[in-house]
Amino acid sequence: MTKTGQKKPVTGYDVSVCFGSKGCPHVALSTADLARKLTFLLTQADIPGFLKSSTNGKIRPHHELRIVLSDCPNACSRPQIADIGIIGAVVPGVGDAACTGCNACVRKCPDRAIRLTDTSDGNKTPVIDMNLCQRCGQCVHVCPGRTLEPVQSGFRILLGGRLGRHPRLATEMPGLHSHDQVVATVETCLNYYKTHSRNGQRFSHLFSRIDQVFA
Ligand code: SF4
Ligand code: SF4
Ligand code: SF4
Repeated sequence: MTKTGQKKPVTGYDVSVCFGSKGCPHVALSTADLARKLTFLLTQADIPGFLKSSTNGKIRPHHELRIVLSDCPNACSRPQIADIGIIGAVVPGVGDAACTGCNACVRKCPDRAIRLTDTSDGNKTPVIDMNLCQRCGQCVHVCPGRTLEPVQSGFRILLGGRLGRHPRLATEMPGLHSHDQVVATVETCLNYYKTHSRNGQRFSHLFSRIDQVFA
């Protein structure tokens, strides 16, 4: 596993993580355990051996299967341009605890997704626009009275991203996914990749639609 920007020998695959585990205050949901599990999966699937035989022993950096994980939607490690990208996320919701009207959540939200409205008894309550919300969980962290609380935590899964001569941004699967669901999804992608890839083709080059891989 490598940190973003760190150089490594060409092995046939790469699992990169962001700096969330080094104390970044923006972590929504840590991907550290997942990164270790996915590294194990890639080793178990013998991706280096597979690529070696499909490239006549000449594995180049552009052949490598890349899995990139970020602990929040800021996505510093750039999962959108990886074969498989994972982003930790938290969905905020409004709980029963009274809102003090402190405005901390409104100030904190990078996406202007929260506003305060007046209640019938003269108090304030937050309203979240889920079309704008990026599920970073920062509003939940700053709410002093736990009016805002996490209603769901999970991982976003993005498939088929790459840079190179024909770049494309990854396609996101709907919803948030548990650790085990991510592992199962990656296993399916690896099987699809090993069945269809020829001459060092990336997963990203094989991928065009989600239902094609999960038929
Ligand atoms: S992706 Fe989020 S948690 Fe990871 S280093 Fe960037 S800001 Fe921090
Ligand atoms: S979770 Fe959504 S509403 Fe809360 S700070 Fe992040 S983007 Fe804004
Ligand atoms: S929801 Fe929480 S952070 Fe937002 S104004 Fe109310 S008490 Fe403050």
